[in-house]
Amino acid sequence: MSDGPSYGFDTLQIHAGARPDPATGARQTPIYQTTAYVFRDAEHAAALFNLQEVGYIYSRLTNPTVAVLQERIATLEGGVGAVCCSSGHAAQIMALFPLMQPGCNVVASTRLYGGTVTQFSQTIKRFGWSAKFVDFDDLDAVRDAIDDNTRAVFGESIANPGGYITDIRAIADVADAAGVPLIIDNTSATPYLCNPISLGATLVVHSTTKYLTGNGTVTGGCIVDSGQFDWSASDKFPSLSQPEPAYHGLKFAETFGPLAFTFHSIAIGLRDLGMTMNPQAAHYTLMGIETLSLRMERHVENAMTVATWLENDPRVDYVTYAGLESSPYSARIPAVCPKGAGALFTFAVKGGYEACVKLVDSLEIFSHVANLGDTRSLIIHSASTTHRQLTPEQQEAAGAAPNVVRVSIGIENAEDLIADLDQALAKATA
Ligand SMILES: *Cc1c(COP(=O)(O)O)cnc(C)c1O
Repeated sequence: MSDGPSYGFDTLQIHAGARPDPATGARQTPIYQTTAYVFRDAEHAAALFNLQEVGYIYSRLTNPTVAVLQERIATLEGGVGAVCCSSGHAAQIMALFPLMQPGCNVVASTRLYGGTVTQFSQTIKRFGWSAKFVDFDDLDAVRDAIDDNTRAVFGESIANPGGYITDIRAIADVADAAGVPLIIDNTSATPYLCNPISLGATLVVHSTTKYLTGNGTVTGGCIVDSGQFDWSASDKFPSLSQPEPAYHGLKFAETFGPLAFTFHSIAIGLRDLGMTMNPQAAHYTLMGIETLSLRMERHVENAMTVATWLENDPRVDYVTYAGLESSPYSARIPAVCPKGAGALFTFAVKGGYEACVKLVDSLEIFSHVANLGDTRSLIIHSASTTHRQLTPEQQEAAGAAPNVVRVSIGIENAEDLIADLDQALAKATA
């Protein structure tokens, strides 16, 4: 089908990027399990290597199954192009890679997935990059943190661990005024609930491991390019605006216009970093993404039901779900995620650390795992696991105090989830 702008989300999540296989007519996208592609002749090979003709060379760069997924996600996010890679964390490095150089920094929200905090505060230092963490609810702090060496601003649409909602438009305006791109991690919201590009984001990153695949089978990541940032407006992004020495002096912005970032991510990023998504992983994610809207509707409905029940339970101190009227973030829902506030939140249990540990051990349907965005309901007690190394003050600031657990509400029957929480809370607070 032609991906006309008039098609709705439910149609695009099934059809965008896919067409019957030209060789066999296969209706489902085949898994092109091949590493290489035969060139028509030497001239064709040379044209492909010169990026004068777009086609398939080697699966570290491009693969037809992965290409369908890239077009699917780009369409759902409203971007001009997308590049899939091996994990969400790979996507974050791939997103920063064309922008950063040694000595450059990214201004990041304090409310991020735990693994991202570690990647940004520790590991990227080995590349000579750094991160400055600021409270994204404080726009002046974001503005003040951006300096001459800042090359990106990074936040999550629906942010960890409490399901806090970022005012993407306001942050985009600050980034825009400073001439730096805004990168939004849209993993917990998905394009069904939130469209960061329509709110001013330059790039959107995903851990496709989570809701986009939805069934907990494969890790994957994706970077979507809005095509709207002018990389040549300043001298800050030489990899995109100046002759790129890693590609015989090609100027990506001049040659590829709005697709400069996407082409750079394939021709340099995947070629030299090699964080490639394999076609099997793309297949599982393509299977999952077909039902994204149906799952997200149920995730949101269940999260609302469970959060409301928890908030009214005397054994619970508070619930952070932004869908609840008590949340300071509920006012942002209409502008940022009009179809709902996702299915990720925390709640505080009376009885503190001991009660939380007992709760986690007593649940039967909820799995105790360091993951989110599965069809299954998941729970983690951050203070005894992912945030164990932090001081009590740091745990509090991260929204991971000892009396708090984080849940990712699945698509089971809500009454079964409530019954499970009820029996586990009884044991935990006995
Ligand atoms: C899981 C996750 C990541 C990291 O993704 P992986 O696929 O595990 O590498 C990044 N951001 C968010 C919000 C996540 O939930």
